[in-house]
Amino acid sequence: MPNPVAILIEDEPQIRRFVRAALEDEGWQVFEADTLRKGLAEVGTRQPDLLVLDLGLPDGDGLDLIRDVRGWSSVPIVVLSARSNEADKVAALDAGADDYLGKPFGVGELLARVRANLRRPRAAVPDSGQHVGTVSGQAHSAMDTTDPVFRFGNVVLDRLARLVRKNEVEVHLTPTEYRLLLVLVSNAGRVLTHRQLLREVWGPSHAEQSHYLRIYMGHLRQKLEDDPAQPRHLLTETAVGYRLLVD
Ligand code: CA
Repeated sequence: MPNPVAILIEDEPQIRRFVRAALEDEGWQVFEADTLRKGLAEVGTRQPDLLVLDLGLPDGDGLDLIRDVRGWSSVPIVVLSARSNEADKVAALDAGADDYLGKPFGVGELLARVRANLRRPRAAVPDSGQHVGTVSGQAHSAMDTTDPVFRFGNVVLDRLARLVRKNEVEVHLTPTEYRLLLVLVSNAGRVLTHRQLLREVWGPSHAEQSHYLRIYMGHLRQKLEDDPAQPRHLLTETAVGYRLLVD
């Protein structure tokens, strides 16, 4: 099998060197671009398996590239952004990026995010090498996946039976709690913004009601986490959203 192809769009040579070395160590073939324009050309010609994208580029905003690429490709997109700028991260995720890393970041963090975002589509569609990414910043809807049984920690979710068990004991979830869990599971490993979750669970007219999420995530943690005050799976991404971590 040929090596998977990553395109790295970043104008800082030091970061390019560092990211390239990390990805090549993991078997990626890496192509670089230092401007938005070159990056878009690379994405259009190489059919990449991964896009690593800096938001602040000399000839434009990486957000525009995400919107453009999401018009025709579901390739996983990991965004690099200044750690302090939460609004940038949220905008990138809402535009269709799959994950972000705040600069400065470590090599372990980078590779973990890459693995999580590549594992998710494979887990969702067993025995298929195809990516089931996101288009136009939508979360995967709750029924995208084909394997009905999903596990994290001591929790087993059986989507066919609509049953949730923790430590072999059935857990009762309300319909809204269940739907929220389904959306998180269908996007496991990936950060979802408040807006994406609200739209998916409550509908487009509720996209600003982030207090709903705080309440229902609290319920899910009470029912599914060993220590709801220190969740290991239903994680908060400060000022951005939530993420289901499987392991
Ligand atoms: Ca930059």
